Amino acid sequence: VIDLSDVLADAQAVKRNLRERNFPFEADKVDELRNLETEAAGLRRELQHVRERRNAVSSAPKGSAEARREAGEIKKLVKQLEPRLAALTKDIQQLALQLPNVSHPDVPVGSEENSRLVKALGPAIPSAERATETDRDHLSLSSPSNLAWTDFPSSSLTTGSSWPLLLNEAALLELALTNYAMSIALSHGFTPALTPDVVRSDVSERCGFRPRDGDAQQTYFLSDGESTSTLCLAGTAEIPLVAMSAAQTFRAEQLPLKHVALGRAFRAEAGARGADSRGLYRVHQFSKVEMVVVCAEDESNRLLEELRAIQEEILNGLGLSLRVLDMPTEELGASAHRKYDIEAWMPGRGKWGELSSASNCTDYQARRLGIRYRPAAAPSSDSARPASAPKLAYAHTLNGTAAAIPRLIVALLENGAVLDEAGTGKVLRVRLPEVLKPFWLGKGTDKRIE
Ligand code: AMP
Repeated sequence: VIDLSDVLADAQAVKRNLRERNFPFEADKVDELRNLETEAAGLRRELQHVRERRNAVSSAPKGSAEARREAGEIKKLVKQLEPRLAALTKDIQQLALQLPNVSHPDVPVGSEENSRLVKALGPAIPSAERATETDRDHLSLSSPSNLAWTDFPSSSLTTGSSWPLLLNEAALLELALTNYAMSIALSHGFTPALTPDVVRSDVSERCGFRPRDGDAQQTYFLSDGESTSTLCLAGTAEIPLVAMSAAQTFRAEQLPLKHVALGRAFRAEAGARGADSRGLYRVHQFSKVEMVVVCAEDESNRLLEELRAIQEEILNGLGLSLRVLDMPTEELGASAHRKYDIEAWMPGRGKWGELSSASNCTDYQARRLGIRYRPAAAPSSDSARPASAPKLAYAHTLNGTAAAIPRLIVALLENGAVLDEAGTGKVLRVRLPEVLKPFWLGKGTDKRIE
């Protein structure tokens, strides 16, 4: 059951949050939620009262006709009230699930252009290079007539457009990038995992993805042939990694839990068109190494910085020109309290492209999935008395991309391709970042890798 105390305490703040996020949840629904909750609270009180009467009647001496009549009446009343409360609770939960998290007070308000530059990393981009270098477009560099790293014509015959088929060095690059990113996450104490790529749609919803409604355009459902089943293809390994801790209560000393998983992300991306959906930049299926942290509530702000530092280490190691952004309210996913994106310069596209994001979801997912912990007891000031056990609290969850493969391939190819000087657009070689060499399986056989 989702705790609605903040919605009930300050409806104006909830509405302001919705406005700032430009979130598709009408302000009227906040009032509706409050009214439903007031009604439910009334019913709960009534039921409580009726149950107390039932206990009093059942403990009284048996036998009187009056007592039997009252017991019958109470039974009837409970039978009426319980389903009403259950139905009301279901409606409340349905609405409450759709609310977004609240934003961190430092998050810039507004849309993408309001994102705040936190820092730049890697080589600076000479301003002349800011112009699009069309001969560095990753799609023509990777095409069958050039490097033959992708075969979109044949994969679209098999599956439709935007389902990439990686070939030759691109396939090896995926393996190398995966293991490189994994190795860095492991060096920071993350536990490795391989997660299922199929998840229950209600679990996905509790993580903040709304497969049946607003995010329907993002989700692929699995059908049993007759009706749509409750399974869907995971949009991210974050879902199975967070759900691993569902309905559990941790001891404070067990936290933080840190997992890193390789999973395939499936995204329908309905409505995505134009230059950003060309080639590998926006595809329906991609491999992603994802980090997830479950921690105590007073640790999540610090751990978001830690996740960002790991992402910077991974991406900076690849020698790319990067910028780290504090994302504004309209760019936050429903579950995020704060989000950092890291973008790389992609010369073929002539713009920055997002490579990774890291979000602090505070207790948003934990409330919806029942992830709790018992905070450590404060030492008792009275030595004669042991400290009383503190109340259970909801954990905080965070997620961060360690490597989203296709866009890394775009960035490495567009920045690292050594082109034929005659201007034919032919790729002679591709520079492989030093850090990937220990993970490269194609040693000696690929003359096109430098
Ligand atoms: P997200 O889980 O949406 O925060 O995405 C994590 C990372 O995956 C993004 O920073 C992108 O690098 C990448 N990504 C997201 N959507 C796609 C897509 N449809 N195709 C390729 N890469 C994607």
